Amino acid sequence: MRTVGVDLGGTKCLAVALEGGTVVGEDRIPTPVGEVALFDALAEVATAVGGTEALGVGVGVPGLVDRTGVLRFAPNLPGVFDLPIRAELESRLGVPVRVDNDATCAAWGERQVGAARGYDDVILVTLGTGIGGGIVVGGALMRGANGFAGEIGHMVIDPEGPPCPCGQRGCWERFASGGGLGRLAQHAAAEGRAARILALAGGDPAQVHGEHVTIAAAEGDAEAQAVLVELGRWIALGLVNLANAFDPEAFVLGGGLVEAGELLLGPVRTAFAGLLSSGSHRPPIAIVPATLGEHAGAIGAASLFDTVREIAPT
Ligand SMILES: [Zn+2]
Repeated sequence: MRTVGVDLGGTKCLAVALEGGTVVGEDRIPTPVGEVALFDALAEVATAVGGTEALGVGVGVPGLVDRTGVLRFAPNLPGVFDLPIRAELESRLGVPVRVDNDATCAAWGERQVGAARGYDDVILVTLGTGIGGGIVVGGALMRGANGFAGEIGHMVIDPEGPPCPCGQRGCWERFASGGGLGRLAQHAAAEGRAARILALAGGDPAQVHGEHVTIAAAEGDAEAQAVLVELGRWIALGLVNLANAFDPEAFVLGGGLVEAGELLLGPVRTAFAGLLSSGSHRPPIAIVPATLGEHAGAIGAASLFDTVREIAPT
């Protein structure tokens, strides 16, 4: 049974063909600007990997997708509102189409063939420029009343914290993302606790970014590793909130920050164990890295057709 998944990103559309949980085809094209061009690109890349012969085509998109497959709002796709992706692609491709949020798709991909396999209650957290999330409850994706569930990056951690593009202040992703890491490092540099990080940034604290920290930490720089410990505490703070709300068996952490490996995951686990109340009276919650990398969203989109319920005629 072949299905196709497309991950619509801010810069590229990545498509895979999936058979029996194995990727058997892949293609990618740049993401164009404009609604018609977006439809053209999605149809083109889906067709290139066999979309018109597939059982169905799934699409993961970076924004709020309602249950009818309309992309309501996408902050990283300028000018895109109320885009009827499912209806338009079904008419163009002649096969069933499912559309979901990209992080929700990535969670399902990791659940079906990646690091979350075997877990029925698991939360994927993508730690990149911002924070995305996908929640699996009782072996099924949790979509919420409208399809908008999983926007975990906008849990407010500090109401007096820095402003967020969503309109709130102090959202989790202001602290625990790549941008949050940059701010922690700038603070450390200003206090004279980041000599190697500052050198990598050319000596200017304002030019310090998250990648300077991960590079220095990988070199063995103790000050950079201490900044990752600080970041680990902010990540763990959000994970504890999620653990209290959802009682998962595991968290799967994906996104660019996880490339720091155990230098970050170790501090996250330590801080999480210290922050979780009644931690000694409950089974441990695994915190593991994602394994599908940039393919998670496309594989998950293709996997939206894994259940009979999902492929039922509409
Ligand atoms: Zn926010």
